[in-house]
Amino acid sequence: FGYGSVDITSLRPDQIERVLLSPAEIQRRVAELGQQISTDYAGESLVLVGVLKGITFFLADLARAITRPLAIDYLQLSRDLREGVAIRKDLDLDIRGKHVLLVEDIVNTGLTLDFIMRVLREREPASLEVCALLDKAERRLVSVPVKYVGFTIPNEFVVGYGLDYRELYRNLPFICVLKREVYEANGNGHLIGGTGQEAAA
Ligand code: 5GP
Ligand code: MG
Ligand code: MG
Repeated sequence: FGYGSVDITSLRPDQIERVLLSPAEIQRRVAELGQQISTDYAGESLVLVGVLKGITFFLADLARAITRPLAIDYLQLSRDLREGVAIRKDLDLDIRGKHVLLVEDIVNTGLTLDFIMRVLREREPASLEVCALLDKAERRLVSVPVKYVGFTIPNEFVVGYGLDYRELYRNLPFICVLKREVYEANGNGHLIGGTGQEAAA
């Protein structure tokens, strides 16, 4: 896999099982999504809502591929084993009456997205749609309406292009599957709330 003149697999050669999506594949698909969204929102302006922190790179690229006036805002969740999911950092903007496009890095069980959708719907936006870069469709527990999907991927834990494992690997310019040893060296542990991958392991 090449990334310009750099061999991207040399970034973490001992930790990467295989690259799932190269930088070129990601950029091509993001451009397509941007075009589709621009067409669908013709004559409108919208608010892109990104869920921190995994969304960092996808949102930056997608926003620049959309040729409509748009505002950008972020929210961040906290996951507590007892108290469940809550909003840690709320939106700055009032989205009432606005066309909101929620941008997510990955949809797995759908539980996170379902929680966010409920919260945002209460604020009565003019419309609320979802764009997810990655969809692990076979892991879905609750049905969530994802209008724009970048890639449907198999049920494997992926990192890169914003996605982390214990806060690392977000800066990889590609999306890849980590080697088992990387997890096992860390006691198969995950951040609080996990990733939904534990049940599959
Ligand atoms: P869900 O609530 O849909 O089960 O999980 C969604 C969240 O779990 C995502 O926003 C992401 O933070 C995390 N997640 C799920 N699958 C993966 C994965 O393969 N890699 C990483 N890095 N995070 C994941
Ligand atoms: Mg996410
Ligand atoms: Mg994470």
